[in-house]
Amino acid sequence: MKKVLLPLLGLALAVSCGTTKSSEAASAQSSSVAKGDKAFLSAYKMIKADELKKNLYVIASDEMGGRDTGSPGQKKAGEYIVNYYKALGISSPKALGSYYQKVPAEFMKKRGGGNLPDSENILAFIEGSEKPEEIVVISAHYDHVGTKNGVVYNGADDDGSGTVAVMQIAKAFQEAKKAGKGPKRSILFLHVTGEEHGLFGSEYYTSNPVFPLANTVVDLNIDMIGRDDQENRGKQYVYVIGSEMLSSELKVINEAANKRSNNLELNYKYDDPGDPQQLYYRSDHYNFAKNNVPVAFFFDGIHEDYHKPTDDPEKIDYPLLEKRTQLVFTTAWDIANRPARIVVDKK
Ligand SMILES: [Zn+2]
Repeated sequence: MKKVLLPLLGLALAVSCGTTKSSEAASAQSSSVAKGDKAFLSAYKMIKADELKKNLYVIASDEMGGRDTGSPGQKKAGEYIVNYYKALGISSPKALGSYYQKVPAEFMKKRGGGNLPDSENILAFIEGSEKPEEIVVISAHYDHVGTKNGVVYNGADDDGSGTVAVMQIAKAFQEAKKAGKGPKRSILFLHVTGEEHGLFGSEYYTSNPVFPLANTVVDLNIDMIGRDDQENRGKQYVYVIGSEMLSSELKVINEAANKRSNNLELNYKYDDPGDPQQLYYRSDHYNFAKNNVPVAFFFDGIHEDYHKPTDDPEKIDYPLLEKRTQLVFTTAWDIANRPARIVVDKK
């Protein structure tokens, strides 16, 4: 999660509320995730706290040096992610020919990134069985703020939690695919770089998309889902931001997915572009939203270890991380498998 607020430049967009006819239709169509759906259930069960924990202890270890953009530690974390996908047999997008999309230093410099070195987004891809040209993006940034005065900022929650959630969701979809129940639409697992310095990796991807943005159905972005904030201490909740900004169906689908999974309290406190915290603009989904791709951003709040060296893996609530990951998976499953692509009917 990016610390500094983005300049607003008159981006005051209105959030509309309430249920509409098309959202009722979306709800009715949500039978693409039936409770008794065996393939769904066995994939869902692949998302486990102990595996999330195992990966997070690596991603957020001191060895990764806080994963600053372009640093050797970040590259090491990237290698771990790529090797994970290789081991699962999940390939990179053919059109890219690599798991790595280079984000050039020059691109970041022009946008105020100073002298950051070249860095990379990491892309893994599962091709859809029926509508392969339609792309569901599940994103999280894998950079963090690095090491300062010899102290490593491990960024376990920010955004190690999102990173390992995306990896685990990919594993679940791959398991379903092996069982002959792969997603109907394609899924892009997008680990972006340069988020903390200014959402650079997602801006680069959306400026140089590997798949046309016009065919990109949704971006489900995960940035910090392993902790709780003061206000929600001990609660089973997650903040959801942006889900009704562009599509009248997405919020409805996510709420139905939540009921089918862990029935978390969905908190919409920050779901307002006019909110003083400006969270709608502060993570990578925003670069998709500004290109008219519907987004939902999953987030746990600003807690006491946010952007501190104490954002460590031992402070993560792993059972809650598992539940939130299962929610995103369930929503992604529905969007990837429902008969019709979700609508973009709001501006
Ligand atoms: Zn951050």
